[in-house]
Amino acid sequence: MTDAADLVLLGGTIERMIAENPPADAVAVRDGRIIGVGSGSDLRPAVGPRTEVIELAGESVLPGFGDAHIHPIEAGMLADRCDLRECADASAVLDVIARYAAAHPERPWIIGAGWSLDQFDDGAPDRELLDSLVGHRPAFLESNDGHVAWVSTAALRIAGVTASTVEPPDGRILRRADGEACGALVDGALALVARHLPATTHEERLAGLRSALRELHGYGITQWQDARVEPADLDAYREADENGWLTARVEAALWWDRRRGLEQIGELEELRRSVRPGGRLRANSVKLMLDGIVESRTAWMTDPYHGTDDGRGAPFIDPALLREAVVELDRRDFQAHFHAIGDAAVRLALDAVEEARRQNGSSDRRHHVSHLEVVDPADLPRFAELGVVANIQPFWAVDDEQMQALRIPALGPGRISWQFLFESMRRAGARLAGGSDWPVTTADPLLEIEVATTRVPPTARDAAPFLPDERLTLDDALRAFTAGTAFVNHLEAETGTIEVGKRADLVVLDRNLREPGAGPIGDAGVRCTLVDGSPVHGTLGAA
Ligand SMILES: [Zn+2]
Repeated sequence: MTDAADLVLLGGTIERMIAENPPADAVAVRDGRIIGVGSGSDLRPAVGPRTEVIELAGESVLPGFGDAHIHPIEAGMLADRCDLRECADASAVLDVIARYAAAHPERPWIIGAGWSLDQFDDGAPDRELLDSLVGHRPAFLESNDGHVAWVSTAALRIAGVTASTVEPPDGRILRRADGEACGALVDGALALVARHLPATTHEERLAGLRSALRELHGYGITQWQDARVEPADLDAYREADENGWLTARVEAALWWDRRRGLEQIGELEELRRSVRPGGRLRANSVKLMLDGIVESRTAWMTDPYHGTDDGRGAPFIDPALLREAVVELDRRDFQAHFHAIGDAAVRLALDAVEEARRQNGSSDRRHHVSHLEVVDPADLPRFAELGVVANIQPFWAVDDEQMQALRIPALGPGRISWQFLFESMRRAGARLAGGSDWPVTTADPLLEIEVATTRVPPTARDAAPFLPDERLTLDDALRAFTAGTAFVNHLEAETGTIEVGKRADLVVLDRNLREPGAGPIGDAGVRCTLVDGSPVHGTLGAA
């Protein structure tokens, strides 16, 4: 080391997140990159007259966290809408809606999200209940998983939904006995009303992105894959990148319009080309939504839902077209990012990648499948064989109200143990990448890492773990949210581990997670987050 460092962190626990993880207590940074990792005495020569030296006391330093499946702009915008995410129960939901409607008499529509299916009978709240809160105004409130919309009578009237409206092929209109819509729309049926919502403005998207950057840096997140990027979202990201305020590294998964075919690939290529090289934004991924969710029985299953003869859900994209699309996307160097929740959808994703490998040979596209909620154990070895990354959302792998009231009744006893098989996937050789699906659930990776290692909700830490054999070790869970996510985002040369030459994208935690008295992982605090060596959250040294 000949030149002095700009910054040296001393006396912490450095979690390098490399295989051997040899102990280190110091990191040196120059020009935004890591120039040394080791002991304080190793790095002493890097300290020059202008080097900022920060003495850590019991803190740990990790690579900045990554999130492999997240919706930041949408979540950021929700903060200014009817935000139901913090509501503990149905009465809190009703209360927030009523207060929001009263506080915003000027807004023609009540738009929001964040209620959860287990808060209402059968996951299907009624429109008249909503009318009693919003009056004659149209309202559109998505569930926290984005798969159900609770709408008011006025909203249905604007959309022209009546007893005779035909179900869309990829969704359901929940109905009363007389055939009238009850006010809950599932999956593809959301669009019936959504297409009438006032258009989101560019300024709203920019504000959503700014708010998301603030919140996510606060959790130590420095890179992510946005799991649904429409052209207008890409405009917002591009503006942030070109104007220098995109302080996270972002892989944009461009949205595959499932009502169209292969002709859209040319447009996706154009969007990819519109991103300037050398910035923090890339758009090399395409999101393919293969099915719905277990709770509303729209996830695509190999065997029927419990208590039905033939209710298996259905693929959202015709399997033959999907295979063709994945072969073509792979050939044109796009990464496929699948949403697959039911075991049949997961198998379809794997089959499509297998076909792409057969026709195009192996590639370094790092195709990945998100959610993986129900997987036939026979498919577990295929992730490693095909080089498909398992993109896991561990926060959901718990035995909670949603599991008891909605998931187990739908799956039946035989498939309970096919859910969230994360440790089995890892043992079968799959690479894991961690994600939150925020705003579906929290974006805090420390809470997600905790649940990955405990399979217990942080709100009920003495509960019994769900399928305890599927718990990940702390190392594997940390890796999924650092190196694993960097890998799926093709960022492993830049970040994901603490090694010389990588970007100084770092998070300083207020404790050493491995110390016996450290307490639950999710209780750890983020003291500071650095991107390219500069703080984007908190300050160094102000312990
Ligand atoms: Zn998602």
